[in-house]
This record gives sequence, structure tokens and C-alpha cells, in this order.
Amino acid sequence: MNKLQKIIHTYGLRKTKCRADVLNLFLENNHALAHAAVEQHLGTQYDRVTLYRTLHSFEKKGLLHSINDGSGAVKYAICKQACTQHQHHDNHMHFSCTACSQTYCINEVHLPPLRMPDGYQVEELRFSAQGVCKSCLKAQRLQQA
Ligand SMILES: [Zn+2]
Ligand SMILES: [Zn+2]
Ligand SMILES: [Zn+2]
Repeated sequence: MNKLQKIIHTYGLRKTKCRADVLNLFLENNHALAHAAVEQHLGTQYDRVTLYRTLHSFEKKGLLHSINDGSGAVKYAICKQACTQHQHHDNHMHFSCTACSQTYCINEVHLPPLRMPDGYQVEELRFSAQGVCKSCLKAQRLQQA
């Protein structure tokens, strides 16, 4: 089984070409994708509504999580932790690049546990950082050299 088949199997999804194509797009990219970007890649094959529904059902299943990076458009990325239909565990940091405007999931940074004052129940934590991503830094260095 390849990665794609494995995911479809693990999440108990009915395999459709659209689902496979959307999932492949996320597997091929190491950064988050906005709805518009998915449409840009696959819009000639599938209509907006179908793509929107696919993204939405992937999020509900715990396969993708949505990210609000302040760009105004919601972006989606593959869940790395054990997310399920009932709960997402994507409290990792998101890094937005000011040069290429891509957003990356940073799973390597360990975030300290937070102690909230009494009477507050946290449902979602958002950690975000802004700066220049690895590939943009590399490109900048090459230009300077
Ligand atoms: Zn998740
Ligand atoms: Zn970048
Ligand atoms: Zn993420």
C-alpha cells in the first residue's frame, strides 16, 4: 500500500478520484494550501463545490486541519498527530513566510504546557510565528553569493 492508499484505508474513506487527487496534492506539498490554491491545481477537473466538500469532509475526519494564519484565507494542512473524527490535536506551531506567503506546520518545536487560571477552559490553542522559511532563506543566500 502506498501512503495515499494507507490514509484512505485508515480513515475509512470511500475512495473517489477527487479525494485521491486532493490528498495527493497535500502529500506533494510541504506547506498548507488554501481553498483557492487547491482550486488552482484541480479546478479544471472538479468544480468548486466538490473541492470545498472534499476539504470539509477531510477536516471533519481528522485528516486535515484548518489554519488561520491571518492572511484572511483559511488554509489546510495534513494532520500529523493522531487526529480523529472527534478530536484534533494540532496544537503545534504554524510558521508563515513573509517572502513566499506559505504557511508551514512546525511539529519539531515542543511547546510548554500552559497553566490557565481557574475558570478558563481551553478548546484551541494557536501558536504562530512569522519570518522567512528555509527555502526562501536558501534562495536569498544564493542571490547574495
Ligand atoms: Zn488534526
Ligand atoms: Zn518562504
Ligand atoms: Zn499544522
